Amino acid sequence: MAEVILQSVGKVYPGGVRAVQGVDLHVRHGEFIVLVGPSGCGKSTTLRMVAGLEEISEGRITIGGRVVNDIAPSDRDIAMVFQNYALYPHMTVGRNMSFGLERRRRHGSLLRALLSPAYAAERRAETARIQERVDGAADLLGLQPLLHRMPRELSGGQRQRVAVGRAIVRDPAVFLFDEPLSNLDAKLRGEMRTELRILHRRLGATMMYVTHDQEEAMGLADRIVVMKDGIVQQVGSPTELYERPVNRFVAGFIGTPTMNIVEGDVERDGGVLALRWAGGRITLPAGIAVTGTRASIGIRPDTLAPVADGPFRGTVQSIEFLGDRADVLVASSGVRLNARLPTERARGLREGDTIALGMPGVAHVFDGDGRRAG
Ligand code: ADP
Repeated sequence: MAEVILQSVGKVYPGGVRAVQGVDLHVRHGEFIVLVGPSGCGKSTTLRMVAGLEEISEGRITIGGRVVNDIAPSDRDIAMVFQNYALYPHMTVGRNMSFGLERRRRHGSLLRALLSPAYAAERRAETARIQERVDGAADLLGLQPLLHRMPRELSGGQRQRVAVGRAIVRDPAVFLFDEPLSNLDAKLRGEMRTELRILHRRLGATMMYVTHDQEEAMGLADRIVVMKDGIVQQVGSPTELYERPVNRFVAGFIGTPTMNIVEGDVERDGGVLALRWAGGRITLPAGIAVTGTRASIGIRPDTLAPVADGPFRGTVQSIEFLGDRADVLVASSGVRLNARLPTERARGLREGDTIALGMPGVAHVFDGDGRRAG
């Protein structure tokens, strides 16, 4: 296990695409860091620079105290797991897992083993050690019954587990995962996510993981790095990001269902600030400093509830029952709001009803430029 430090890291691809800019990140010993953001935001490029699969255009990357900018991927003490598994199709599961280590000790050694009994013994010991590591990883991942199968005889989930097993066998200082669960169906993805989380705890290893799926990020990460347009927006624990997003982008990206945003004009009445939009007006919490004339508030769908008289009066457009909860979409003048209600409270509602929604208070206020108002 090792720390990974990125200092002012940037990437400009040949042709001029600036994929990553000014990334500063300190991944701690044994930490599970997830890079998340929409497609094209630069998360894979960042991970691939750590792996050494992409050259670093600017800045410095350190793994375990060693600057790796000019070090080959094979010498960085990392193991990477890809979305497409990248298994060797003509090798058994066991071979797929041991091959990386066998290859390392292979050069010219067979001839040497024939000539030198001492070397032959050392080779046998090495083979036993590799086998032990494969067995250990196979036990950890429940792969023992599959060790003699070929990749084509495995399900997608099993293949991905083999790819993870192969990384474990190498016992790297840092594990790198590039969207490893994207090819799996939703249920299996959920199961594998739990497995990876448990695995991380058992191995105590440093892990960096890339996904576009914020739910996956929330479920896996000790800390999440949210990226947009090649720039880190916020780094924090899942709860920090959920409770105090630094801008509208993070607010909208993190959390399911998506946060409602209501935009309007800022009204100043003495020391009291309020937001006015076409359909209503709401007083902002005392002590909030908003610069400029426009602002927005963010409202999590599960904080909204039907009330006798509330700031958002409108028509129920759709109701989706999800088991114990229901998503109710309400069109109020100028805004559409999604309220996630306990099913009991949504049962009496019909599409077309007029209702008012209220909330306990305003938790998130953003300036006109989208930054969290202090
Ligand atoms: P993400 O992983 O967040 O989807 P990427 O890191 O793959 O994003 O890509 C970031 C940006 O860099 C995108 O605009 C993408 O089109 C561009 N890009 C990625 N790979 C290359 C490449 N080999 N050559 C040129 N541009 C690239």
